[in-house]
Amino acid sequence: MELEGTRVIILGAARQGTALARYLANHNAQVVLTDLRTADALSDVRQSLAGVPVEWVLGEHPLSLLDGADVVCPSGGVPLTIPLIQAALSRGIPLSNDSQFFMEAARCPVIGITGSAGKTTTTTLIGRMAEAAAKQGAIGKAFIGGNIGYPLIAEVDQMAANDLAVMELSSFQLDVMTSAPNVAVLLNITPNHLDRHGTMEAYIAAKGHILAYQTESDSAVLGYEDPSAWALASSVKGKLWAFGRELPEEQIGTFIRQDGVWLRTEQGETEIMPMAEITLRGAHNVLNVLAACAAAAAAGLPPEAMRAGVHGFGGVEHRLEFVRQWGGAAWYNDSKATSPGMTITAMRAFEQPLVLLVGGRDKHLPWDEFAQEAKSRVDHMVAFGEAAEIIESAVKQVKGTSSYSLEICAGLDQAVAAAAQQASPGDVVLLAPGGTSFDEFSDYEARGRRFKELVQALPEKE
Ligand code: ADP
Repeated sequence: MELEGTRVIILGAARQGTALARYLANHNAQVVLTDLRTADALSDVRQSLAGVPVEWVLGEHPLSLLDGADVVCPSGGVPLTIPLIQAALSRGIPLSNDSQFFMEAARCPVIGITGSAGKTTTTTLIGRMAEAAAKQGAIGKAFIGGNIGYPLIAEVDQMAANDLAVMELSSFQLDVMTSAPNVAVLLNITPNHLDRHGTMEAYIAAKGHILAYQTESDSAVLGYEDPSAWALASSVKGKLWAFGRELPEEQIGTFIRQDGVWLRTEQGETEIMPMAEITLRGAHNVLNVLAACAAAAAAGLPPEAMRAGVHGFGGVEHRLEFVRQWGGAAWYNDSKATSPGMTITAMRAFEQPLVLLVGGRDKHLPWDEFAQEAKSRVDHMVAFGEAAEIIESAVKQVKGTSSYSLEICAGLDQAVAAAAQQASPGDVVLLAPGGTSFDEFSDYEARGRRFKELVQALPEKE
C-alpha cells in the first residue's frame, strides 16, 4: 500500500496503536488516532508522541471519522462488532493493523506464532534460537515482538534481507490480516476466547487465518497432537512441518526419541539435544520446545542454534514462575493461566502435594474437567474472587468423596494468607487461577506481581 497521503484511522492508543501511528506518520500518511479514553487519561501517551503529526479524536469514536478514510486499524483489544468498525465494513473501507503493515513492509523472512496457549513461551524460545543463530553468523539480526508486547512495526525500517523477525500473533490480530508470515506456526486450538469469537468454529477460522494467505514457497508448522490444529494440515499451501512427541514416519518435523529431541528433514534425522537440557517445567513446555525447533528448522536455522536457544531458559514471567521457598513449600506464579484448561496444564506440571489458588473472573468456560482433575491432584484448594462460588459448585458436582479441602476467599490477598496457613513442607503452592484478573486487577501481570509481592512478604515462620 502506498502510504503517502493515505488517511488511516487507528483505534486504540496503546502500544500497537501508537507504534503504528509513529510509523505511518514517518511515512507521510495522514494519521488519526482515536481512543475512548479522555485526553487527560492519555496525557503520557500524547507526550510520547509529541512532534509526531497525529490528529487525536478522544473520548468517542464518531462515525464521521470514516469520511475520507482509506483504512481503519483496530488494536487487538477492540471488538470488531463496535459500530465504527461495522460502518467501515459496510462502506467498504478495508481493515488493517500494525502486524499487517509490518508484513507488507518487512524485507526479511518472518516467523509468525499463534495458537490458544504457548504463544509467548514459543515466541521467546524461537527468538532465543534466532539470537543464537545471529551470534553464530547464520543470519543477520534477530527481531522479536508482536503480541508479546513489542510491536515490530517500530523497527521494520531497520530490517535487512538476511535478518529474521519472530512475531507472536493473536487471533484478534489475525482476524483483520490479509498477509501471512513465511513460516506460520499454529500450536494448538482449544476453546479460550469464545467470549469474543462466539463459536468454536469462528475461533478455529480465526486461528486458521494464519495459513490463508500463505503461498507455495512458505512453510507451516502445526501441532500434530492437537486435533483441531492438525485438521488444518490439508489447507497448508507450502511445506508442512509437524511437532509432537511422536510423528508418522514420513512427516518432517520435530519429535522425541529415547530421551532426545529429534529433527527430521527431507535430508534425514538429527538429534538436536537431550531432553535433560530442557529446564522448562511441564509436558506442555516440551511441546513448546518441539514447536520452536520445528519453526527454527523451517526458517533454516542450524540445530546448534536451536539447542543454544533452549539452554538455560527457565520460562517467561507469570508462567509457572518459581517465586520462593516458604514454609518448606515451593511457591509458583502462573497468573497467565486464565482458563480452566490452563489450570489443568499447570497442575499436571507438578508431582508434589498441591495447594492450589484458583479463581478470578469467570470466562464462561466449563469448569467440570478442571474439577475432575483437581480431585486427584489437589490437596487443598483456595478459591478466590468472582469465580469462587462457580468453582465451588463445579467441584461439588464431582461424584465420590473429594480428597481435598476447599476454602473460599474474597480476593487474592486473603487467598495467599489462607494458602500460607495450609502449606506444609514438600508442598507446591500454585497460583493458576483459570479465570481472568479483571475482577481485581488491570491484567494478569498486575495479579502476578501482587502475588509475588505477597509471597515475598510472608513472615519467616518461627
Ligand atoms: P500464550 O502467549 O498463548 O497465552 P504462554 O506461553 O504465555 O501462552 O503460556 C500461558 C499459559 O498457557 C501457561 O502458563 C500454560 O498454562 C499454558 N500453556 C503454555 N504452553 C502450552 C501448550 N503448548 N499447551 C497447552 N497449554 C500451554
